[in-house]
Amino acid sequence: MTLTGRLGSSSRPVRVAIIGAGPSGFYAAGALLQQKDAHVSIDLLDRLPTPYGLVRYGVAPDHQKIKSVTRIYERTMKDRRVRYFGNVDLGSDVTHAELKSQYDQIVYAVGAQSDKRLGIPGEDLEGSFSATEFVAWYNGHPDFRHFDFDLSVESVAVIGVGNVAMDVTRILAKSVSELETTDITDYALDALRNSNVKRIHIFARRGPVQAKFTNPEIKELGELEIADVIVNPADLVLDDASQAEMEGDRTARRNLETLQELAERGSTGKPKQIIFHFLRSPTEITGVAGAVNAMTTEKNALQETESGYIACRGIGTYAEYDVGLVFRSIGYRGIPIPGVPFYDRWGIIPNEKGRVTAEHGGAVVPGEYTVGWAKRGPTGVIGTNKPDAVETVKLMMEDVKNAAVSLPGDSASVNSSGSHTDGHGRPGDIVPLLQKKGVPYVSFADWQILEQIENERGALRGQPRVKITDVDEMLRLIQSAKAEPVLP
Ligand code: NAP
Repeated sequence: MTLTGRLGSSSRPVRVAIIGAGPSGFYAAGALLQQKDAHVSIDLLDRLPTPYGLVRYGVAPDHQKIKSVTRIYERTMKDRRVRYFGNVDLGSDVTHAELKSQYDQIVYAVGAQSDKRLGIPGEDLEGSFSATEFVAWYNGHPDFRHFDFDLSVESVAVIGVGNVAMDVTRILAKSVSELETTDITDYALDALRNSNVKRIHIFARRGPVQAKFTNPEIKELGELEIADVIVNPADLVLDDASQAEMEGDRTARRNLETLQELAERGSTGKPKQIIFHFLRSPTEITGVAGAVNAMTTEKNALQETESGYIACRGIGTYAEYDVGLVFRSIGYRGIPIPGVPFYDRWGIIPNEKGRVTAEHGGAVVPGEYTVGWAKRGPTGVIGTNKPDAVETVKLMMEDVKNAAVSLPGDSASVNSSGSHTDGHGRPGDIVPLLQKKGVPYVSFADWQILEQIENERGALRGQPRVKITDVDEMLRLIQSAKAEPVLP
């Protein structure tokens, strides 16, 4: 029996695996659940025990309001058609082929887990990091908790002027009292408590109008307890092309106003300084005994291209800055997954509006889809992932309807009620496979045990939560909580 042309049935739903339980994965699940004429069952897999991806490990600890978006994702998980399998890595725990045999459709919501490179000498010296490493470290990502950032240095360079650069700068520039009520990890707060960083140099290769940060983020820098922002008024004098660009861009206009206010204010004698350098590209990072001690930059001029893009080019004037740490914050990029196409040039999964293609511009791979940063690259805010997921899900439903994805009938895998009795009991699904392979997967109820522990620990200390950062400890805590007798 083949159920082609139909959007599943209650006894044979369209089985979807979503790989990655960050915002884009949850929005994809949410969009699938909203398909009124479709019967779906959704498994959300994440390689970490904890869900929420960049909301937990990317959003800055002092931006708690943004994190409240997880309430929407919790609502998604209340739907019995959705299950969560944390601590399951696609590649080592389950293979692409195994997923293909279990599901009708696979959605890759794996984000962009790596970072772009500058391609300049000295980039790999000790003390030269990507911002993504620093962000993941202070946010308690299990893979980055052992990183060591030498904050005994006085001067730091941050390269790039996007919102990630603003986050990194703010965390380096804030006082302990500004951070201790956040969910920053204990080890990061300790390191920052002992920090000797006094100057944070931010380098933008283009001008203030082309800066990628949004206005609340630049404003926030001007409101810090112990750091002044230094902007050179000469950097805010615009060429004609930038003037024209700004007139059509509200954010750029507001950013320029804020930068002008900051330039006028100048130093007020606070112990730390955040110093903006516009129109400067790093050309070399140099070190002593293998560790960073300086960075050279070249002055740029702006030049409008035929397409109207305002590019920059070096004009041969160089300056060296003494810095002991460099954070390149020039954008994220994806990493390839075994068995899944990857377009190296853009660092994404090649796709056509969310349908995975065998290569960039190539043929569609039936039954495989992508959403979020893995689909479009690392742009936009959390909410941008919602319409993005809706676009992909629409195509997924079209493909089932048009029989581009067939639903082979499988009596062994049919649950008569179509519902999940205990959340992990459907015959013929991924559970027996994971059990057979001894994968200690984490259910959503398991995660909620962890979450409660984190919240309770936080409440005792006036913090939103105290993050558990070690995977073994997470699994131990879940096991011991489950082993405790339930009181009548
Ligand atoms: P981004 O916004 O793309 O900014 C990257 C920055 O790096 C740009 O200033 C870019 O300059 C610069 N850059 C790129 N290549 C460079 C090079 N070779 N040399 C020097 N500079 C270079 O990326 P992001 O900051 O990583 O942020 C990623 C996404 O997450 C963005 O959409 C951001 O808004 C979002 N985000 C939002 C928040 C928030 O809402 N609070 C927080 C964090 C992140 P050019 O413009 O010249 O290319």
